[in-house]
Amino acid sequence: MVIPVFNEAENLPALLPRLLPVMDGLGRPYEVIFVDDGSRDLTLSVLRGFVAERPGTVRVLELSRNFGQHPAILAAFQRARGSVVVTLDADLQNPPEEIPRLLAKIDEGFDVVGGIRRNRQDSWFRRAASRLVNRVTGAITGMRLSDYGCMLRAYGRDVVDEINACEENATFIPALAQSFSRRPTEVEVAHAERAAGESKYSLYKLLRLNFDLMTGFSVVPLQIFTLFGFVVAAGGVAFGVFLGIRRLIVGAEVEGVFTLFAILFTVVGVLLAGLGIVGEYIGRIYHEVRRRPRFSVRREFGGPPA
Ligand code: UDP
Ligand code: MG
Repeated sequence: MVIPVFNEAENLPALLPRLLPVMDGLGRPYEVIFVDDGSRDLTLSVLRGFVAERPGTVRVLELSRNFGQHPAILAAFQRARGSVVVTLDADLQNPPEEIPRLLAKIDEGFDVVGGIRRNRQDSWFRRAASRLVNRVTGAITGMRLSDYGCMLRAYGRDVVDEINACEENATFIPALAQSFSRRPTEVEVAHAERAAGESKYSLYKLLRLNFDLMTGFSVVPLQIFTLFGFVVAAGGVAFGVFLGIRRLIVGAEVEGVFTLFAILFTVVGVLLAGLGIVGEYIGRIYHEVRRRPRFSVRREFGGPPA
């Protein structure tokens, strides 16, 4: 079990009493790794309390600052020892009771089991944005994933090892896992409202994450842009030829100046957007070449003796 936690002190006390019975009921050995992603509230002390309560079962990684949900999960993946690793959100939006259903699919021989949030309990805006992202990402990456955002997922050991071998900074774990998977599958899982607190994703963080997803797994946005450039250039040449011929037959034209403006503004707009897309890629390249660590673990509690 891997659970990234960022300022969730209010939710944690309700999480453990629901999670542990489910895990105990599985009848196989397990460990729960909480990653404190630079929380500024009481999260860490609550988590340390868990370690004291269930030593040997609960482990805690304290990251040195807030690195984000995906880097936090990566930190835990490098330390997880299980043959199957399940990720879960700490805010009780993913009911722990669904875990056995994911594991049943793994036992059937699938190596990645994704959750699809049934009756998703998020704002209208978040749902609409997710629909758009799912559709666009599916189109540009060719991956078939119905719900990229659902973090209640199970990964087989081989896939986790492959993910651990990746060194990229900006990443999106469900898509990364999907790309390494031989037999992925998906199951519908229940979804609840956030138990307490607010979403830890601001609109800006959400945008960044989704750009990570779209740029990290495809260069199609760049290619679309190139194609568009060719089409506009060809159109421009054709229009020039048309005007030249027209000038010879009918004479010079002056009307429709504003139509020209409209076309111009549209093209300039697309150009700027395209420049932005190029910038997104370059920014990420810059990020990668600096080779800063993706996360740094400050302390570990309840881990195996080193
Ligand atoms: N989270 C994290 N680091 C962050 C943001 C979020 O570890 O920078 C954790 C958070 O504590 C939660 C999970 O990631 O366990 C999902 O976050 P949240 O519920 O805020 O996302 P949403 O459900 O709104 O997509
Ligand atoms: Mg949530």
